[in-house]
Amino acid sequence: MDLKDKIRVIPDFPEKGIRFKDITTLLNDGEAFHYTIDQFVKEVEDKDFDLVIGPESRGFIVGTPLAYALKKGFVPVRKPNKLPGETIRYEYKLEYGSDSLEIHRDAIKPGQKVIIADDLLATGGTIYSTIKLIEELGGIIVGVLFLIELTYLEGRQRLEGYDVRSLVKY
Ligand code: AMP
Repeated sequence: MDLKDKIRVIPDFPEKGIRFKDITTLLNDGEAFHYTIDQFVKEVEDKDFDLVIGPESRGFIVGTPLAYALKKGFVPVRKPNKLPGETIRYEYKLEYGSDSLEIHRDAIKPGQKVIIADDLLATGGTIYSTIKLIEELGGIIVGVLFLIELTYLEGRQRLEGYDVRSLVKY
């Protein structure tokens, strides 16, 4: 199955010049969604790991079915003030201002091996921040999985040294 056929590209969303990769059309198609998660499973089933980590919010959509399929735990990384327990925060700079992500302090034990799953690799900023949080807790990243990679933004360079894989490239 060619997953590109299932992804809708919407020009000039959320602002002019951005070609938004809309995965809701893929999710809406039961065969395509199932095939996507099966492909994710194939990428990591030979790896030894304990947890899947997914950043808010589309990382939840692709990360939880992967965790379920391989009987692993799932850990959400969220925008500030959403997680109820004690958290650690990583703040990162945007073109204007900054943004932050949080994780529960007790979500990963030192030495635990994790896979990160998200919908799309653009500049890599979100995943870089997610990596910082995981490593601060002593987690070991054994793989990073994306449904989509925008190769022209070279986010992969920012994630050098990690095993980064994507199913669909633009
Ligand atoms: P980044 O931190 O730059 O790698 O991108 C963060 C997130 O922004 C991705 O995980 C996507 O959810 C979203 N995103 C960025 N660019 C696009 C795009 N062209 N189409 C759809 N989502 C995007």
